[in-house]
Amino acid sequence: MAEVTNNENLDNEETEVVSKNFIEQEIDKDLESGRYSDIMTRFPPEPNGYLHIGHAKSIILNQGLAKKYNGIFNLRFDDTNPTKEKEEFVDSILEDVQWIIGGEKPPVYYASAYFDKMYECAVKLIKKGKAYVCDLTPDEIREYRGTLTEPGKNSPYRDRSIEENLDLFTRMKDGEFEDGAKVLRAKIDMSSPNINMRDPIIYRIAHISHHNTGDKWCIYPMYDFAHPIEDAVEGISHSICTLEFEDHRPLYDWVVKECEFENPPRQIEFAKLYLKNVVTGKRYIKKLVEDGVVDGWDDPRLVSIAALRRRGFTASSIRMFMELSGVSKSNSTSDYAMLEYCIREDLKMVKPRVMAVLDPIKLIITNYPEGQVEELDVPNNQENPDMGTRKVPFSRELYIERGDFMIDPPRKYFRLYPGNEVRLMSAYFVTCTDYKTDENGNVTEVYCTYDPETKSGSGFTGRKVKGTIHWVEATTAKEAEVRLYENLIDEEKGVYNEDGSMNINPNSLTVLDKCYVEPCLAEGAPGDKYQFMRTGYFCLDTKDSKPDHMVFNRIVSMKSSYRPDKK
Ligand code: ATP
Ligand code: MG
Repeated sequence: MAEVTNNENLDNEETEVVSKNFIEQEIDKDLESGRYSDIMTRFPPEPNGYLHIGHAKSIILNQGLAKKYNGIFNLRFDDTNPTKEKEEFVDSILEDVQWIIGGEKPPVYYASAYFDKMYECAVKLIKKGKAYVCDLTPDEIREYRGTLTEPGKNSPYRDRSIEENLDLFTRMKDGEFEDGAKVLRAKIDMSSPNINMRDPIIYRIAHISHHNTGDKWCIYPMYDFAHPIEDAVEGISHSICTLEFEDHRPLYDWVVKECEFENPPRQIEFAKLYLKNVVTGKRYIKKLVEDGVVDGWDDPRLVSIAALRRRGFTASSIRMFMELSGVSKSNSTSDYAMLEYCIREDLKMVKPRVMAVLDPIKLIITNYPEGQVEELDVPNNQENPDMGTRKVPFSRELYIERGDFMIDPPRKYFRLYPGNEVRLMSAYFVTCTDYKTDENGNVTEVYCTYDPETKSGSGFTGRKVKGTIHWVEATTAKEAEVRLYENLIDEEKGVYNEDGSMNINPNSLTVLDKCYVEPCLAEGAPGDKYQFMRTGYFCLDTKDSKPDHMVFNRIVSMKSSYRPDKK
């Protein structure tokens, strides 16, 4: 549904169409009805891996809502499960979240800081007759739970007295029992059609140290009990989560109600972001890292946030992508090409357009004075004159792309071939006169003559050429390594096989180790981004690039198969 508002700042009759997603519509209703007066959202990652582009969706959504409604956005580490979490991920998550939302540091909380409160809530439930200690084994609990079509049956321990439950729960906390010997369960309804409501476990015994609370606890709360309490304690208004939690919502509501939180939060679910033929799940990314298919969590072929950043994606391009892909209540898959469109759009007008030759062969201009190097004025971005110009050296010997010359070209090939004239970008017209090959027939050098009258910017209109090629001056060019990427997944076969293994594309990485770039690039800093004219957008690698050995990652090629206006 689109809401049309008159924008009073405009003198003319223009109207601004603000379309609201379904979550915003719900928030509007809640504000109108007075259910909430302040909006507070959160992003609650489990610190058990690096964040990926799916998490970015949740971060941008939650932070965006808080911003839109002048509310507060919290980052909360959901560190209630001591078996899986590692402190090392906390720093990377904080860095990634901050980067995605544009630099500001959100308030940071730890779910483990609420363990006392959660314990207090559990005791409250016991006292209300709403929770009991159960001695069934895990297998028995499963058996008693029933199935989707059959109701469960009551545990024989369900009717323990409040006193006995309080005593047993205290002794669980005091470490008297082994792991798995007892659990605390909510007393709800073993015949509920929703399995999550069949007396779910809310506390379990685990004699494990916790990275934050050490050995203080040997009982830990289960997610479905802990999460609503975390939200309620922080004063979250809208607890936004992904669709798989829809069936858990009745339990969420039960917990905040029975624990008697005032003005409790409300859970709203949205569909996860999936990218076609791209590995997004934390578990699967982890496997690629552990199996050595990629070289670490920030390998530029991955879509972890660290990897996207290293590859050269900007936070604003990722935000634009989320804007375009929208927020929905039903699962769908987005195209990676749309993300590529966003980064091209983001860099197009603001990054320098420079020349780099990825697969070089020599071009020798036989009528250009030997030993002379002239400096040409070249615009930094043809579409954005505000970016000014730079000096680019030009001389008798240049490098051009191997693919820009053919001995025997097909029809409609407008680049260099014997007898043909082309423009050297921002320089002169040259006509190919000859070439040299090695013993295998590979071209090693191309010869040509230039016409001094045709200098770019001189106003020459004498004749036209159909092809323009890029080049770099041979004696001043800097050598560089360039890494080209393809999808990590073999797209013909899809991501996963039936056994859960992945179809890896053997050509996902191509390393070109002898490329030549304009000398000005030697001044670049890691993370700097450029358009290499005709070949794409590139980023100086933040990990491997050194002043004496530049390494560029190709973020994306120039060509686009995606248009936002076409499906
Ligand atoms: P994964 O699905 O990769 O295993 P996770 O859900 O286990 O991730 P959490 O740390 O629990 O990872 O996730 C933190 C938040 O990010 C949760 O609120 C979760 O719903 C959300 N989230 C995870 N994956 C996606 C996704 N693909 N799209 C949108 N939100 C996501
Ligand atoms: Mg999870």
